Amino acid sequence: MSSSCIFCRIATYELAATIVHDDEHSIAFRDLHPKAPTHILIIPKQHVSSVNDVTNDHAVALGHLFVAARAIAEAEGFAKKGYRLVVNTGSDSGQTVDHIHVHLMAGRAFTWPPG
Ligand code: 5GP
Ligand code: ZN
Repeated sequence: MSSSCIFCRIATYELAATIVHDDEHSIAFRDLHPKAPTHILIIPKQHVSSVNDVTNDHAVALGHLFVAARAIAEAEGFAKKGYRLVVNTGSDSGQTVDHIHVHLMAGRAFTWPPG
């Protein structure tokens, strides 16, 4: 937990967010500035800055983000139609919050490749 990290503060309920999923390893909440009709961020409760800092010790917590993604996709009703998971890493990708997070976006057709 880093007190200067906004996502750590959401994970400890210190900062308000619209939480859609909460379990032992992860928490998910709606993005403040959604880029799709459904735009959810799934984060580990443990602070990891980015994929660049991932080690074997994070395997369970980070693997769990996909378990959460599947559960959210089912609960929100877009598992069949599809959705996009994105993990930005570093400045070229557009990462702005240094606490690893999976964007779960759905509700419209996405283009490929992304811009
Ligand atoms: P990144 O650009 O790092 O991949 O994604 C960070 C995301 O966090 C952005 O989509 C941004 O809108 C979202 N975000 C930043 N601050 C907050 C916040 O305080 N609350 C919520 N719910 N989302 C946030
Ligand atoms: Zn953090």
